[in-house]
Amino acid sequence: MRPITETQKKEFYQALLEKNSHFDGVFFVGVKTTGVFCHPTCHARKPKFKNCEFYRTAQEAHLAYSRPCKRCRPLCAPHQVSDLIRTLVHAVETESIGKIVILKYDLLIPPQPGVNLKNALE
Ligand SMILES: [Zn+2]
Repeated sequence: MRPITETQKKEFYQALLEKNSHFDGVFFVGVKTTGVFCHPTCHARKPKFKNCEFYRTAQEAHLAYSRPCKRCRPLCAPHQVSDLIRTLVHAVETESIGKIVILKYDLLIPPQPGVNLKNALE
């Protein structure tokens, strides 16, 4: 895995300060003073740059820092999930398979004139 350059560290630190969700899953930060590692979007108080170590994976961060943050739970998947994924997960948990397929088509394919999949299959 490529090492993280000094320029990237500064970019990651800025993303950390901004809780930039675009970087969720791109890097993890270990905090030297607390021994905890976090997602970039963690709401905990931000450490000084000199106290941060950056990692590309939660596994790397976990090897260096034994304590995952209890607030952002960095060993879980990134907590910023797209609306599409959230809708599909909800559908899987609550709907029948047929409705999930219809829901998927409604979300991924623009509606076609004169075609109503929901009415056709219900
Ligand atoms: Zn955290």
